[in-house]
Amino acid sequence: MSTLSHDPNCLFCKIIAGQIPSKKVYEDAELLVFNDIQPWAPVHFLMVPKLHIPSMAQLQPEHAELVGRMMVLAPQLAAQEGCRPYPEGGFRLIANTGDDGGQEVQHLHFHVIGGPRPWRKG
Ligand code: AMP
Ligand code: ZN
Repeated sequence: MSTLSHDPNCLFCKIIAGQIPSKKVYEDAELLVFNDIQPWAPVHFLMVPKLHIPSMAQLQPEHAELVGRMMVLAPQLAAQEGCRPYPEGGFRLIANTGDDGGQEVQHLHFHVIGGPRPWRKG
């Protein structure tokens, strides 16, 4: 599977292009972060690269800096969005990958899920 910069049939590419609305949490030249439309918990946002990478399975060495930046940003945005501090608070970070991984949208994304329990799932 090739890694296209933009896939016109991809839901998250459409959100990145502004063709489908989203509740934006953060944006820069390489990343968009927006709230999940069906949240499991009080805080539930999705971190996506603007580059159309279908899943973690297609990650290449040249993506390491981008993904590393996403990992560093995740706790900062979690705190900004209302997750309580570690260790009492914290959050879950999930990257569903492929059919067996339960991936529904084929554009790499990290779920960041947190806030006071109980949660709808998990
Ligand atoms: P996954 O199963 O990891 O591929 O998760 C895809 C996620 O995208 C699900 O949690 C959906 O609720 C979420 N989602 C689907 N459509 C939208 C949308 N238009 N805006 C925000 N989140 C969405
Ligand atoms: Zn895409």
